[in-house]
Amino acid sequence: MKTLFIYNPHAGMMQIKSHLYNILNIFASAEYDLTVYPTKKSGEIAEYLKNNALKFDLIVCSGGDGTLNETINGLLSLNSEKLPPLGYIPAGSTNDYASSIKIPKVMEKAAELIVNGKVQSYDVGKLNSKYFIYVAAFGAFTRVSYDTPQDVKNVFGHLAYLVEGVKSLSEIKAQKIKVKLDDTVVEGNFIFGMITNTLQVGGVYKLNPKEVSLDDGLLEVMLVKEPKDVVEFNEIASFLLGGIKNSSLVLTFKAHNIIIESKESIPWTIDGEYGGSYNRTIIKDKQKAINIISK
Ligand SMILES: [Mg+2]
Repeated sequence: MKTLFIYNPHAGMMQIKSHLYNILNIFASAEYDLTVYPTKKSGEIAEYLKNNALKFDLIVCSGGDGTLNETINGLLSLNSEKLPPLGYIPAGSTNDYASSIKIPKVMEKAAELIVNGKVQSYDVGKLNSKYFIYVAAFGAFTRVSYDTPQDVKNVFGHLAYLVEGVKSLSEIKAQKIKVKLDDTVVEGNFIFGMITNTLQVGGVYKLNPKEVSLDDGLLEVMLVKEPKDVVEFNEIASFLLGGIKNSSLVLTFKAHNIIIESKESIPWTIDGEYGGSYNRTIIKDKQKAINIISK
């Protein structure tokens, strides 16, 4: 099996360093014909895959959300029916998506799953021209509105930190937006919006696995209304941190297609990285667009 193994040496505080020998051994024992590609800078994975992915029978990537996102963008940019399946070895702090599809946190166990698991098709979200595997979000708790894009790293790994870090309501700016969710239209002032294809975000916000499917063609949408006072803000914080399951300040939906329009341009994060700023954002669920080896 011709296998391309891409890894980000820096992900999760160089987590792979002490596991690399074992991981390579697991693939070598399974007689995989390995090409090893350590990444040097962001953006190069997509480019490399565009030119080389179809030469392989299997693509394995190891890194955080950014590495996984780049790999998926690279593969899907090929627009091919013959894409090799993807194996993922997570290296990071929360590993929201890996947990959602039951990929083990221990790197060797994740490598063994790639050898012994089965290929399954999962949905991928597309926001304007970019694909996301598990989350696209705007507004408060995303940091993009406050920091330069380079600083926006693994923001959802710190969801609790971002929610608890809001010192006054004046820090939070509401956006007047119009949202079209398939045939439903919602308009209002919202401080945060999140479109997900996952069972958890930031380790703390959990969705009910009985109500969420990662291959049903539907994305989960959350819109958070502007809080009037600290009491309302605390209710929102509690909802996001998993303390309460319902709040009249948080609207939730499921949709195949979502269009978000606003007068002001809205900056997005896509899988925890800066994803561009738009007045009109079209988000689609690309049903079963990627094949990932899982349990
Ligand atoms: Mg779904």
